[in-house]
Amino acid sequence: MITHRSAVPLVGVLLAGSAVLTQPAAAAPPAETVGGTGKTGKTAVAEGYGGAVSTVDLDASEAALRVLRRGGNAVDAAVAAAAVLGVTEPYSAGLAGGGFLLYYDARRKKVHTIDGRETAPAAMTAASLEGIPFEEAVTSGLSAGVPGSVAQWELALRRFGTLSLRQALQPAIEVARRGFTVDQTFHDQTAANAARFADFTSTAKLFLPGGAPPKVGSTFRNPELAETYRLLGRYGPRWLYGGRLGEEIVATVKRPPVAPGSTRTVRPGLMELPDLAAYRALERPPTKVSYRGMDVYGMAPPSSGGSTVGEALNILQALPEVGLHEYLEASRLAFADRGKYVGDVPGVPLRQLLSDGFAKERACLVTERAMAHPAPAGEPDGDYGPCPAATPAATAQQAPEGPETTHLVVADRWGNVVAYNITIESTGGNGIVVPGRGFLLNNELTDFTFGPAPGDPNLPGPGKRPRSSMAPTIVLDGGKPVLALGSPGGSTIITTVLQILVNRWELGMSLPEAVAAPRATQRNTAQTQAEQAFIDRHGAELSARGHSLALNPEIGAATAVEFLGGGRLQAVAEPARRGGGSALVLVPAR
Ligand code: GLU
Repeated sequence: MITHRSAVPLVGVLLAGSAVLTQPAAAAPPAETVGGTGKTGKTAVAEGYGGAVSTVDLDASEAALRVLRRGGNAVDAAVAAAAVLGVTEPYSAGLAGGGFLLYYDARRKKVHTIDGRETAPAAMTAASLEGIPFEEAVTSGLSAGVPGSVAQWELALRRFGTLSLRQALQPAIEVARRGFTVDQTFHDQTAANAARFADFTSTAKLFLPGGAPPKVGSTFRNPELAETYRLLGRYGPRWLYGGRLGEEIVATVKRPPVAPGSTRTVRPGLMELPDLAAYRALERPPTKVSYRGMDVYGMAPPSSGGSTVGEALNILQALPEVGLHEYLEASRLAFADRGKYVGDVPGVPLRQLLSDGFAKERACLVTERAMAHPAPAGEPDGDYGPCPAATPAATAQQAPEGPETTHLVVADRWGNVVAYNITIESTGGNGIVVPGRGFLLNNELTDFTFGPAPGDPNLPGPGKRPRSSMAPTIVLDGGKPVLALGSPGGSTIITTVLQILVNRWELGMSLPEAVAAPRATQRNTAQTQAEQAFIDRHGAELSARGHSLALNPEIGAATAVEFLGGGRLQAVAEPARRGGGSALVLVPAR
């Protein structure tokens, strides 16, 4: 395992006594018990009671656990952890990003979702990205969407939490002030971004101190971000959505602080202050499919996560047997439909895409051998007859999507659960730090289809949210949670979530095995990308069935919690991918 970012102890966090308990405490754990890890490293699996957390990062997991221990609920802890990730994983998450949050309310036995996806400015049209090279858009003001995270945190806390935003930001402020120890992953991500970071004065100043990436083992402090969080707590989200911080974001997007001598073409953005003032995080009904007698809840459009995972599960259920071949084929078909039908547009045929009738019709196309590429989209029209003939589609949509973001899961002592995907899109977002404020801007608008692509549901538009693949997922059995999970990885998020579910329930693995198992991802592409261990283990058998496997060195970085019954929780993170994650429980099982 690669060296980890070890925790700089969080002392003096202001949460003591500040959480208002709004729910009856069941089996409250001893106040000072922390389980699942030593202070020096991360642990991928932790089992116990009273609350559980899984994130990619020890500081974030510890912050969440601390909130739980002091009486906060899963939403409080999830927001606190997300804000800490903005400090310790600043290239994957942050206050200028966005995300999707699923919340299971134990008292009402109900799954809620909050859409904190970034929006396009009002001036953006279907043609705004046309003809622009993808790489040029990646590092630009043009690709910065109106940030959603802060509005989402505020809404989540107001609706379901017990802490104020100011309180929930305290752990992150502490970590930003005191600093964290630079690990290999942070160093490598900085080094991979060094060329473009150097092109912006503000970014170079923050992330390339002395002109180079911070050394492994050094302490990285971000006092400017600590101050930004502090002021955000003091002035509230309006400081961003129409206030001074918003003005600075707009100024940065419109006139990126390009370093003297840089030869980079940096396109300015279209964002204006009214775009920020108009932003709303939105509650949306979750997607739901029933699978092996359980209910699988996911994120509805503008994410394609819930519909694509759900459709693939339905297809698998319509097949006589399920193995890795069927997993790849179901995913291929679901991606064909996602490309044609899902985006932030009215009239996404969600009910039909998730219907058993449609799944049966799609399942007809799965045979003993891999189907011809590209798989055609189906007709989710409610009229499902005998198996249609399998004619390959003329083209498959293959918009590039970055591989980075992050996911966390929190369960509290009352049985509430959060699964939360957050992102600034590319590793390092658009590469542009807002001067003096300590955070990077997102480049989420590169998730739109650049076009021209008539009829594509994912073309840009004023106020529109780019289609996402983020797939925070909560599974209930008889109205009670059994599993919550999610992953980063652009469009591979969907296949990682799906493969873990298949591993767990079709292939009989335990959750730690299901998360650690080698991965493959089929997204209606000619080749199936797979990790080396997957190719070694399954390549011959799958090739014999017509699959063509291509190496992808690392797919996803999942986090999950399983509810084992009798209040026992199993928190699971990656043992190795992305340096390994951090799973913690409040009261470890002996
Ligand atoms: N922008 C991606 C999405 O929403 C998430 C970031 C990533 O993993 O690439 O699907």
